[in-house]
Amino acid sequence: MAHSSANVVICGAGIAGISAAYHLAVKHGVKNVVLVDERTPLSLTSDKSTECYRNWWPGPGDAMVALMNRSIDIIEDLARASDNLFHLNRRGYLYATADPARVDDLRRAGEEAATLGAGALRVHTNGSAYVPSPVEGFENQPDGADLILDPHTIRKYFPYLSERTVAALHARRCGWLSAQQLGMYMLERAKERGVNFVDARVEAVDTTGGRVRAVQLNNGATVTADHFVIAAGPFLKQVGKMLGVDLPVFSELHIKVAFRDDARVFPRNAPLLIWLDSQRLPWTEDERAVFAESEETRALLNEFPSGVHARPEGGAASPMFLVLWTYHTKHVEPALPIRFEPHYPEIALRGLTTMLPGLKSYFGKLPRLTMDGGYYTKTQENRPLIGRLPVPGAYVIAALSGYGIMASCAAGELLAAHVTGGPLPAYAPAFALERYADPHYQELLKNWGASGQL
Ligand SMILES: Cc1cc2nc3c(=O)[nH]c(=O)nc-3n(C[C@H](O)[C@H](O)[C@H](O)COP(=O)(O)OP(=O)(O)OC[C@H]3O[C@@H](n4cnc5c(N)ncnc54)[C@H](O)[C@@H]3O)c2cc1C
Repeated sequence: MAHSSANVVICGAGIAGISAAYHLAVKHGVKNVVLVDERTPLSLTSDKSTECYRNWWPGPGDAMVALMNRSIDIIEDLARASDNLFHLNRRGYLYATADPARVDDLRRAGEEAATLGAGALRVHTNGSAYVPSPVEGFENQPDGADLILDPHTIRKYFPYLSERTVAALHARRCGWLSAQQLGMYMLERAKERGVNFVDARVEAVDTTGGRVRAVQLNNGATVTADHFVIAAGPFLKQVGKMLGVDLPVFSELHIKVAFRDDARVFPRNAPLLIWLDSQRLPWTEDERAVFAESEETRALLNEFPSGVHARPEGGAASPMFLVLWTYHTKHVEPALPIRFEPHYPEIALRGLTTMLPGLKSYFGKLPRLTMDGGYYTKTQENRPLIGRLPVPGAYVIAALSGYGIMASCAAGELLAAHVTGGPLPAYAPAFALERYADPHYQELLKNWGASGQL
């Protein structure tokens, strides 16, 4: 049996484990960091995302906005240092509604976001001051949000939205990037500073004497280490159990469809587009009659929730666009390979036509598509777990839900500060496991409210 030793062993080479390795080795000069994964780096969840980012987060408190602002700062620095290798843009998120009753909610959300540090809200009842986002690049752009209430401006800049749209909120410190390329950039820099990637599964952790001693791998090797970091994505609970810790998380399956838009209907210059209204899917009378007949298809006639969202994928010449709509959120045990619901692409595309009627040209002849997806592993209040675990020498960077790409850089920085014993940012306690031991926090959890999660 091979024996070796490391200073830090990180279990999981998704974006979280890679960012932790990067911050430890590159930013803190920690030697002998071993990154263990039984899969190719970034291949489980971190290359399945929509790759979007935003600093637009609800409360209570400003911890999520502060974490995301810090993460976006680091992402922007990495983009500058790499000549924007990972195509960071700043197109924003556009939340649209056809329901006049929602306008006040949007205004309140914008005001709340401003007080939490996301930037000012600008309300446009005529179009003069609204400045659209550039298609590429991210420098010198506004933050905060533009709430556009003037129908003229909505039509001028977003002519593809349903004519029923009465308000559009454009959140500005938001956009997307190539998560795979961001992750590989950090991994390469970490390897240059000595991080060693080991292709194996972590099977057990030796905690003799009540602290981390060694990590056992499925290739028979044992790595003696003082520090063990769990970055296991959807397998967080499983790896936590190796330390005797029951981590308070659950998982949901989220699926994404990439459609091929040969008819060139999808707007190539669009921001991320999100429809805020619940809806009934636009079926024909005949389709309705057929679906009503069978137990299996009757649910297609039900009301579907808000939140269908989409964006163009690739450059101007690319025909692809991505659609996501998690209309059933169930707690599930992460299982692989993922099983896809056969009706999902049709339902997602139908739902999207309520916001983007031009896509109705695909009714009856669904475009070519591919589906993938993964698990959002999350805590009940949808905040991550980053910090120490009750076993000395053990740490966690996980429960990154549907925002792990955007949060990865600040999460890795925070994890590295915990491991090296450096100063912690003000938001650190909001993400530590210890928060659940605080009776005041338990009270807060009872009335937590909206998750702010797409
Ligand atoms: C459909 C979808 C859309 C999303 N959209 C966005 C978005 O727009 N923006 C955003 O910021 N986020 C988004 N996310 C969320 C984001 O993808 C995740 O939060 C993030 O990828 C989680 O990264 P991770 O490193 O924690 O986990 P993972 O990428 O799953 O990595 C965990 C790794 O741990 C390894 N591992 C587990 N157990 C062991 C073990 N015992 N031994 C060795 N290795 C082990 C696994 O093999 C895996 O490689 C989306 C997610 C999905 C599914």
